[in-house]
Amino acid sequence: MATKRLNAYNDVLNRTPKSVELDGKLSDLFGTLVFHSDVMREYLPSDTYKSMMEAINSGARLDRKLADQVATAMKDWALSKGATHYTHWFQPLTGTTAEKHDAFLKPIGPGRAIERFDGDMLVQQEPDASSFPNGGIRNTFEARGYTAWDPSSPAFLIGKTLCIPTIFISYTGESLDYKTPLLRALHCIDKAAVDVCQYFDKNVNKVIATLGWEQEYFLVDQALFNARPDLMMTGRALFGHAPAKGQQLEDHYFGSIPERVNAFMREFEMESLRLGIPVTTRHNEVAPNQFECAPIFEECNLANDHNLLLMDLMEKIARKHDFRVLLHEKPFAGVNGSGKHNNWSLGTNTGVNLLAPGKNPKSNLQFLTFFVNTIMAIHDNADLLRASIASAGNDHRLGANEAPPAIISAFIGSSLTTLLDDLEKNIKAGKMTPQDKTELKLNIGKIPQILLDNTDRNRTSPFAFTGNKFEFRAVGSSANCASAMIVINTIVANQLIKFKKAVDARINKGEGKDEAILKELQVLIKASKKIRFEGNGYGDEWVKDAEKRGLSNRKDTPRALQAYHDKSIEQLFESMGVLSPRELEARREIEFDGYVLKIQIESRLMGDLVNNNIIPAVLEYQNKLIQNIQGMMAVFGDKEGKAMASTQIDILKQVNLHLTAMKSASEKMLAERKKANSIEDVEKKALAYCDKVKVHFDEIRYHADKLELIVEDELWPLPKFRELLFIR
Ligand code: ADP
Ligand code: MG
Repeated sequence: MATKRLNAYNDVLNRTPKSVELDGKLSDLFGTLVFHSDVMREYLPSDTYKSMMEAINSGARLDRKLADQVATAMKDWALSKGATHYTHWFQPLTGTTAEKHDAFLKPIGPGRAIERFDGDMLVQQEPDASSFPNGGIRNTFEARGYTAWDPSSPAFLIGKTLCIPTIFISYTGESLDYKTPLLRALHCIDKAAVDVCQYFDKNVNKVIATLGWEQEYFLVDQALFNARPDLMMTGRALFGHAPAKGQQLEDHYFGSIPERVNAFMREFEMESLRLGIPVTTRHNEVAPNQFECAPIFEECNLANDHNLLLMDLMEKIARKHDFRVLLHEKPFAGVNGSGKHNNWSLGTNTGVNLLAPGKNPKSNLQFLTFFVNTIMAIHDNADLLRASIASAGNDHRLGANEAPPAIISAFIGSSLTTLLDDLEKNIKAGKMTPQDKTELKLNIGKIPQILLDNTDRNRTSPFAFTGNKFEFRAVGSSANCASAMIVINTIVANQLIKFKKAVDARINKGEGKDEAILKELQVLIKASKKIRFEGNGYGDEWVKDAEKRGLSNRKDTPRALQAYHDKSIEQLFESMGVLSPRELEARREIEFDGYVLKIQIESRLMGDLVNNNIIPAVLEYQNKLIQNIQGMMAVFGDKEGKAMASTQIDILKQVNLHLTAMKSASEKMLAERKKANSIEDVEKKALAYCDKVKVHFDEIRYHADKLELIVEDELWPLPKFRELLFIR
């Protein structure tokens, strides 16, 4: 076997699980590395603590004195835990998190130093951020960017470093990260939802968006990973024939978790719990070596920080167990890819889940209001929602008969469908009689019962109502959930504002409140009908049906991102104060550019692997065949020897056919890449990479994978899928 592959293989066979022991209970670990409100109460004078909590709840600016006090408390707590450094922890548009560590240490004389950390250092830092993506924002203005504390997400300790969640903005105040617009969107939905809640309950003064994500991932052994340059550089296998056994036996899902994997999961879960991430669920996923981890839902901003933290932790801890985590959406062709379902809902300060039916007709009307408005928001902004989840990796999933299609639609289940259809029909034009109203309310009052036996679980829908929340399933496994959450919260907020205006107008014209709400809901139910789809989202019929309905089907990232040109999207973000036109434009540029870079790296690596790894192995095998054929001819004479070597000759021909075709497709790809690279405009470049460069990937791979099947196993240089996916 090719040396690298053989060594890796042997490494794997010698592995043993590395279990970590736990003294005491899991619950003892929870939040021990977090500067959460209980710790703050302990470390801060009680009036400071109260002001801090008020500021967090209201989102108000913290004054300098308060910041100083909090900084001191944070430092004392961190030092007591052995910390030496602090960092502002932020989410640049690279998709990962970034940090820059500074010591608490401050020299105060020759040979003397103290531990220092004050409000200034807590509130703001100026990381040298010139190498983070900015979409041109920082080139035209000031080159600096700065990070600013987000007090709504608690600081935490990683190793000896105190990490402070922050936003990242340019000197001129434009956002350069995911967190800033997310916080703005969460503020919008809070305000808009509280206003609508006033129709139902005057005690509601705060609404939070909740997010419960489910993280899917693959594990591969570290040695095998290192022997696959494509996994190392792109996170996915660019080559590799599907193994004889894939997921067809359906024996992996919910099967028993292998011991070495279990040891890894246990350790990263323990670390997660220490960091206050409430992980509870773990199981195998559909594909071999694919797993899922999910926490209990939390407030959206915190949940998102926790997801980023978890992805980071997983990668770090996987190495300790000689694994590598693959967060890519499609590491292995032929088996399922990975997503990150985003479960989303809205909760009030009074403890009500606005997307859960309540106990009486009034709370059910409230439920229906938020439910129907969400569907309307999805209807009006499907393209934007699609753009929010676009990435080169996710392109392999969406529409690939395993993940939701690239067509955005909403699934609500048959009972709610019947209810909405009834409402659409039965709310009469003109003034409603008291009897009409009573009847409608009775119907609405029945929602909880009908939902109880609403057992349909449609797994093929990108946006599904699951009883007390919506589940956005099209999000990619490596994505920052903020992208999707910024959009969902902004569009629902915008819709709620429109709804409130329309209902108020009806009330002003003399309609009763309930009547006004019902009539307006009827308008929305009618108007949003085409986005509702209860059937099989994987079927070809749906693609045709969706087209007839006028729903978009943007199949790749560049097409999805083009939606951002829509003026109404710019207006939406601007009017809601979530992204200025300039910020939006910058993001569009960054995403097109990110797409280009990803495909460019994949394309280069494909060329390299073809030339440096695959062709040499193929030539070696060809030489073996040639030697054998020549030998036969030497022993038996040209004619008889040739006849006897006919199988070898056939194989040789076949090998040569695939070799030539692979190389020629690779050359074509190279020529197109050169052309694409000369394009200045980033959007046109992305389109060229998609339509002209990437299109050759399948052909190159087809021939390479055929060669993998023909060439002697010993000679094949890259660990095969059966090794990557089944050896642990
Ligand atoms: P699956 O989709 O794998 O069947 P579930 O439907 O049980 O799993 O999804 C559970 C997920 O939904 C969990 O991550 C949970 O935290 C989340 N969730 C439950 N209620 C809410 C809510 N009100 N808001 C946001 N997420 C929620
Ligand atoms: Mg789910």
